[in-house]
Amino acid sequence: MLTDSFARVHDYLRIAITDRCNFRCTYCMPEDGISLGPNAKLLSFSEIETLARLFVQHGVRKIRITGGEPLVRPEVEQLFEMLGAIKGVEELGISTNGALLTAHLPSLLANRVHHLNISLDTLRPDRFRSITGRDEFEAVNKAIRSAVEYRVDGSSFASVKVNMVVMRGTNDDEVLDFVRFGEELAALAHGGPAMEIRFIEFMPFPGNEWNAEQSIPWRELLSNIEQEFSLRPVRSPNAKSSTAKSFEVQSLRTQEPLNFRIGFITTVSEHFCAECSRLRLTADGEFRACLFGQDGVNLRDMLRRGETPDAMATAITRVLKDKWPEHPPVHELAFLNNREMISIGG
Ligand code: SAM
Ligand code: SF4
Repeated sequence: MLTDSFARVHDYLRIAITDRCNFRCTYCMPEDGISLGPNAKLLSFSEIETLARLFVQHGVRKIRITGGEPLVRPEVEQLFEMLGAIKGVEELGISTNGALLTAHLPSLLANRVHHLNISLDTLRPDRFRSITGRDEFEAVNKAIRSAVEYRVDGSSFASVKVNMVVMRGTNDDEVLDFVRFGEELAALAHGGPAMEIRFIEFMPFPGNEWNAEQSIPWRELLSNIEQEFSLRPVRSPNAKSSTAKSFEVQSLRTQEPLNFRIGFITTVSEHFCAECSRLRLTADGEFRACLFGQDGVNLRDMLRRGETPDAMATAITRVLKDKWPEHPPVHELAFLNNREMISIGG
């Protein structure tokens, strides 16, 4: 098991498979972009598979494919197949901006990538363009609906989560619209995937022009939502490693119990470091124990030098032993010598 010095067990690996993206979200990508290395710096699919197997051997049970935008990586379906075939992975998921998702649904479902997180920060096409720099609202909206309704021989995705980064003065007037959107999707899901709308507190990263006023504490959002919806807190089955504070939603309008939840990712106002079970592998092979920095180790370099699995496991354990009990206070995060969100993998 991958345990740190504070007895936290790490069984969840997030693998960024590219630092490229077809969007330019203001909160993620610095205005003048990031410096992209040559493709040869990226882990190849077979290197990703080798490292994923190593982590699974040491206790990882949950893997999420992320980026950058994972679906821009050429021939990504091969990777779904390779990761889907690893025994011991109990939960396989992907985080995507959704623009290219519809065409990949068959391959994702067939290869056990059953937990879809799709980013969407606004339901207004003009606003979508100003947040992401792209005119893809319709493609994303269609992909979300298709994912929710997608069935092959009666099988569906296990969960579809819509992730909204809430920013004061940018999209916070749409929070209730997103809960209503969730109601609508839950009706479409109809016995299929579990639906969740997740409100993410805006986090500081180098170059994303974060300021404290723009980041809305989750309790403020909660009390706004409670004006219209009745919420019941839930502990999900894997709540120990869940970053989200989740609530079941009951509409005050219909009084019907709805098959969906809302969740809050509260990194800024109430961090959840004590329960952290996450490990990260960047697209260029750096293993990290925390989103907010601290030195890691480059496993791609170790692999390419021909070092043994035992040597890599020792290096992973060493990084983990140095994991801090919690990340620094939020006002310091903006000034950390960290990598940009897009190059770590959210
Ligand atoms: N491209 C994919 C996507 O957009 O879902 C995967 C990578 S993205 C970096 C992963 C998640 O990080 C997205 O849900 C995105 O909204 C979130 N994210 C990016 N920058 C953020 C920030 N500054 N604060 C909070 N969440 C952020
Ligand atoms: Fe790309 Fe996702 Fe970052 Fe937006 S949040 S720029 S879609 S990686």
